[in-house]
Amino acid sequence: MTEKPHLSIVPKRDPTPKEAVIERIKAMPRPEGMIQCPHCGGRAKLTIEAGSMVVKGKLKKGAIIHRNICATCWKHRDVAVQMKSGLERPEMV
Ligand SMILES: [Zn+2]
Repeated sequence: MTEKPHLSIVPKRDPTPKEAVIERIKAMPRPEGMIQCPHCGGRAKLTIEAGSMVVKGKLKKGAIIHRNICATCWKHRDVAVQMKSGLERPEMV
């Protein structure tokens, strides 16, 4: 008696046109150390603060809620994706 397995390997499919464009953008050359979103390839970043105040005409910074998150993913998908430089962290000596 042959039972059908519960899990099977799915062959890799071709990328959709949208996925192909995103992969092409992520593979484009960039200066060393420039941060880039690992999901969409965007290079615009956001820092979100809460509790900023104006004291004597000057803006006083508040608590940082998110730092270096992708602006494109935040705007279009409403998620906070941390951007990376693609470089490995220096080894502790
Ligand atoms: Zn992104």
